[in-house]
Amino acid sequence: MKTYSVVEILGDGISAELSQSVHAICAVLPCRIEFVPVDLSLESRQRQGGVVYDSCVQAMQRLGLAIKYPTTTSEESPNQVLRDRCDFSVIHRPVATIPGIENNFKKTIDIEVIRVATGGTYDDPGMRICDEAAVSIRKIEKTPSRHAARFAFELAQRRGTHVVSTSKWTIQRATDGLFEEAVDEIRAQFPAIAHRRELFDSLLAGIIMKPERYSVIVTPNEYGDFLSDSACGLIGSIGLGDSASYGFDGTGRVRIAMFDPAGGTAPDIAGRDLCNPTAALLALANLLGFVGETASSNALRQALLCSIGERQCTRDVGGSLSTSAFTASIAERVRGALQRH
Ligand code: ATP
Repeated sequence: MKTYSVVEILGDGISAELSQSVHAICAVLPCRIEFVPVDLSLESRQRQGGVVYDSCVQAMQRLGLAIKYPTTTSEESPNQVLRDRCDFSVIHRPVATIPGIENNFKKTIDIEVIRVATGGTYDDPGMRICDEAAVSIRKIEKTPSRHAARFAFELAQRRGTHVVSTSKWTIQRATDGLFEEAVDEIRAQFPAIAHRRELFDSLLAGIIMKPERYSVIVTPNEYGDFLSDSACGLIGSIGLGDSASYGFDGTGRVRIAMFDPAGGTAPDIAGRDLCNPTAALLALANLLGFVGETASSNALRQALLCSIGERQCTRDVGGSLSTSAFTASIAERVRGALQRH
C-alpha cells in the first residue's frame, strides 16, 4: 500500500471535527495517509509564539504536502504567514456545481481557477498623492505567472481539457501583457493542449452565459480573486469549496502543496457534531488527485456530490445528518465505489 506523509495543520472552532472526518475517509482508502499534526490554534500560537510557525513550515518543507483546517485570525493571519513563509505563488480554486445546493444559476459549472497569488494590486496599499487622488503600483512578475501557467497546462493535460488565460492585456499592456507573454512561453511546451485568451470582462459574461466553454482558467491575482468568489456565488456557496496553495522550486516544480477548506472556523457550532465537512473532504479529494490517487479522488468527490444531491447531508445544506453520520455515509460510498473500481 502506497504511503503519503501529510502535515495536518490543526486550527480553531470546527477544525477538530473536520480532521476527524478527513481521518475517517482516509481509513477506507487503498493508500495510507500518515498525518504529522501541527497545532496552529490560537491557543497554541499564543502559548508558543512564532516557534509554532517555524515547526509548521519546516514540516511542510520536509514533506511537501499539507492539509490545513480553519484558523482564527488574531494579530496575524496564519494563512498570510504561511503564504509568505512557504512562498505560495499560485492558488487553485476548483468551483463545480453541487446538485441539490440551491442557487440562482440555471446552468452547470465546472471550472478550475488558477490564480497567481502574488502581486497585482494586492501587494501595494497605495498612496494618497493629494486630497483628490491616490495611486498604487501594480506589479506582475514573470516567474509566478509561469508557475501558474505551467500548473494550469499540467492540470488541463491530466483532465483532458483546455486552458483559457484571462486578463486585460489590451489596456494593461505592460503588466497583463507580461502575464500573457509568460503564458505563451509555457503554452509552447504543451502543443497538444488547446489554449485561448479572453479579456476578463468578456470571460465573466461568458461564464454566466456559456459555462460549458470553460474548464481550466489561469489569471493574475485580483482577477482570480474576483472570479473564484463570483463563481462560488453562481453555485450557491462560498463555504462549500476548497482551495490549494502551491510553492515552487527553481525548476518550476511544486515544492509545497497545501490543501484547505475555504470556510471559516464556525465557532457557534464547534464541538456539536453539526458542521459540514464537505469543503475539507473536497480538499482531501484535491490532495489525492494531486498525488496521483485519481480513483480515490474521483470516488470521494462523487460520493460528496451524490450524497448532497440526495439530501443525505448536514443541516446547513438541507439535510438532517450529523457531521459524523454524514462522514460515515461518505466513507461507505467511497469504500463501495473503490471496491467496484
Ligand atoms: P471566522 O472568523 O473563522 O470566519 P465566523 O463564524 O465569523 O468565523 P464562518 O466560520 O464563515 O464565520 O461562519 C459563518 C456562518 O456559517 C456561521 O453561522 C457558521 O456556523 C456557518 N458555517 C461555517 N462553516 C460551516 C460548516 N463547515 N458547516 C456548517 N456551517 C458552517
